Amino acid sequence: MAVKLEWTKFSNTINGKLVGTAETRHGINPNDQQALPEVPVCTRVEVDQAVSAARQALPSWRALSWEERANYLLRLGDAIEANRDGFVKMLQLEGGKPASTAGMEVQMVLDALRAVVKLRLDDEILIDDEIKSTTLRHMAIGVGAGLVPWNFPMYLGNVKTAQALLTGNTFIMKSSPFTPYCNLKVGELGIDIFPPGVFQVISGADDLGQMLTEHTGIDKISFTGSTFTGTKVMQSCSKTLKRVTLELGGNDATIVCEDADLEKAVPTIGTMAFLNAGQVCMAIKRVYVHHSIYDEFKNRLVEFVKNHMKVGDTSDPNTTIGPVQNKLQYDKVKTLYEDIETSGWKPLLGAKVPELDGENKGYFISPEIIDNPADDSRIVVEEPFGPILPLLKWSNDDEVLDRVNDTLQGLGGSVWSRDSERATRIAQAIQSGTVWVNGHGMIEAGVPFGGMKASGMGREFGLDGLKAWVELQALWVMK
Ligand code: NAD
Repeated sequence: MAVKLEWTKFSNTINGKLVGTAETRHGINPNDQQALPEVPVCTRVEVDQAVSAARQALPSWRALSWEERANYLLRLGDAIEANRDGFVKMLQLEGGKPASTAGMEVQMVLDALRAVVKLRLDDEILIDDEIKSTTLRHMAIGVGAGLVPWNFPMYLGNVKTAQALLTGNTFIMKSSPFTPYCNLKVGELGIDIFPPGVFQVISGADDLGQMLTEHTGIDKISFTGSTFTGTKVMQSCSKTLKRVTLELGGNDATIVCEDADLEKAVPTIGTMAFLNAGQVCMAIKRVYVHHSIYDEFKNRLVEFVKNHMKVGDTSDPNTTIGPVQNKLQYDKVKTLYEDIETSGWKPLLGAKVPELDGENKGYFISPEIIDNPADDSRIVVEEPFGPILPLLKWSNDDEVLDRVNDTLQGLGGSVWSRDSERATRIAQAIQSGTVWVNGHGMIEAGVPFGGMKASGMGREFGLDGLKAWVELQALWVMK
C-alpha cells in the first residue's frame, strides 16, 4: 500500500529520514499572495549530510541491475499516482496552475518515469578478434544533483530523478525556492521505497544551488533554468570539473506558411503560446505569418484567445490561465507591456497588467498579442515567460529563416504548411534542438530534448539523456 501523504508539514528527505532545519521559509500562493506552509532552509550542514549519505549509498545502488533500479522507479511512480489529487492541488497552489495544467504535469511525471525505465543503455562490444575484445562500458558518474526551475517543478525534477537513478547514480534534488512543495513530498514518498541516501530532496534559499554546484562531493549537476543562471552554474562547476547538463531558456519561433491548415495551426499555436501563462521553456514566443494570410491568421488567433483563454484563480474549474508564478516574473512581464506602450506597438486584445494592491493580490495577467512589432523590439528579442505573443509578417523562406535564427536561443521551433516536404526543409534550417512540422511542443522520453546555442548544453531524454549520466570506460581484454 502506497503512503497517503498529508500536506501540512514539509521536510527535507536526507539519508532516509525527514529532516527539518533551524530556519524555515515559505512560498507564496500566486493566486492571492497568501503564505504557503513553512519549508526547510538547508545550510551547508544539511548539504554535507545529504552528500555524505549519497556517497555511502552509491556502491550498492550502482551494483544493482538495470531492472532492479527500474523497479524502484516504477514504485515511485505508483506512489505518486496514489497521491495524484494531492499533487494536483499543491501544484495549483504553489505553481499557479489551473487544475487542467496541474493534472497534465502530474500525468507527465508518471508517463516520464514509466517510459524512461524502458530505455536501455547497454555496453557495446567495439572489437572482438583473435587477440582481444574491447567493450565500451557505461559507468554511473557518482553523486548527482538536480537544480529545478519553478515553471514545471515536478516534471522537470523527476525527469532528472529517473535518468540519474536508472543509470546507477545517487541523486539529490533541489527545487526552486518559489516551488519546493511537491518535490519535497516526492522525496518523502521515496523514504519507503529507496535505500537511504539514494534519492534525497532538499529545500533552501537562493544560496542552496551554489552550495551544490561548489560541493566537492558532487560529481554531476543537471540544471534546468534561465540562461543567465546557467552560465553561473557552468562557471561554478568548472572549479571541480563537475559534469554539467544545462537546459536553458528559449525563444521558440513558429513559421506559418501561406498554405498552412489554419484550422489546425491556430488552436495549437494559441495553446502553446499561452499554456501555463506562457511560462513554458518551449512555449511559442514568436509567430512569423506569411504576409498573404497574416490578417486572416491574426483574426482567427484573436478569436481563439478570446473564446478559449480564461484567466482566473486556479481553484475555479473554468480557468485556463492562472496567475504568473511569482512577483519577480510579474514585474518583468509588466516592463514588457510598458515597453510596448512607449514603443507604440499595437496590442490586439487591450490587456493591462493590473496594479497589485489590497483589492487585487493575484499575479493575473490577461493574454496579449502584439501586431507586427519590429524585429529588434524587446517582445521579439527577449523570452517574456508571460502570456504575451508577437505576430510578425514574412515574405520569403530565406528571409524568415534569417530572422528566426537571429537569436542567441535555440530550444525549439516549428513550421506549418500543407506541403510537409517544404515545411520539413524549412524546419531543418532552424537552429534549434527540436523542430516540429505541423505541431509544436511534443516531447517523449525516448527522444532527446535540449537546446542549441544559449539554450543549453547536452540533452535530457533518449539514450543521449542517459549518456549524460554516465562515464565511458573502454575495457580491453587480451585473449
Ligand atoms: P533560474 O535560473 O532562476 O533558477 C533555476 C534553478 O537554479 C532554481 O532551482 C534556482 O534556485 C537555482 N539557482 C539560482 N541561482 C543559482 C546559482 N547561482 N547557482 C546554482 N543554482 C542557482 O530559472 P527559473 O526562473 O526558475 O526558471 C525559468 C527559466 O527556466 C526560463 O528561462 C525557462 O525557459 C527555463 N526553462 C528551461 C527548460 C528547458 O528544458 N530548457 C525547462 C523549463 C524552464
